[in-house]
Amino acid sequence: MTDAATDTEHILIIEDEANIASFARMYLEAEGFRVSVADRGDTGLAVARDEHPSLVVVDLMLPGIDGFEITRQLRSAGRTPIIMLTARDDPIDKVVGLEIGADDYITKPFNPRELVARIRAVLRRSDTGHGNGDAPDDTVITLGALQIALGGREVTVADTSVALTPKEFDLLVLLVENRGIVLTREQLLERVWGYTFLGDSRTIDVHIRQLRRKLGDACQIETVWGTGYKVVAPR
Ligand code: CA
Repeated sequence: MTDAATDTEHILIIEDEANIASFARMYLEAEGFRVSVADRGDTGLAVARDEHPSLVVVDLMLPGIDGFEITRQLRSAGRTPIIMLTARDDPIDKVVGLEIGADDYITKPFNPRELVARIRAVLRRSDTGHGNGDAPDDTVITLGALQIALGGREVTVADTSVALTPKEFDLLVLLVENRGIVLTREQLLERVWGYTFLGDSRTIDVHIRQLRRKLGDACQIETVWGTGYKVVAPR
């Protein structure tokens, strides 16, 4: 690894609205990030593949290919953290964006300080930390047929591998480590996403639904009405 790349996080912004892109670039550079901008989906995806940025901010509607397709393709290739930009008042986009593996979304128009905060939160929680020297964690949590390898971030049910998105994995680990205890949506948001969404508990609900679908009976995630969720410890 060479000089500047060692400690400067590289953010790729894929956004065709030039004023939004340059506005975001200006703030991020002022915060010490290295920033690239692509104004088309296809060129953005190519840059993401060639340059391995620390995080990608991708607009949904783009010339070339759209933000969903970019997210899908980056997800199938690895775990590059992705923040999706969505149009105002478009909850369907947010839900779909999270389901296909974006780490977070932000609604336009956004406050640049909020963008910076979310980028930092996603980077802090992502696993791509460039050689931070931590020893690999070989802890394996076993709960009935469910096994979670923390270091390899691998989940198996009865020895069959289950593919989870990074956020689904983090959420599952938090719930399983606190099994038998109710965690509120606010606690889950704060500890998995690193900040509190302003009242947007749908994010948690979407991820819980996905976990239930993927894990089936192997992990019982109980809804505690009006409060949050807990994992039931098997007898
Ligand atoms: Ca656009």
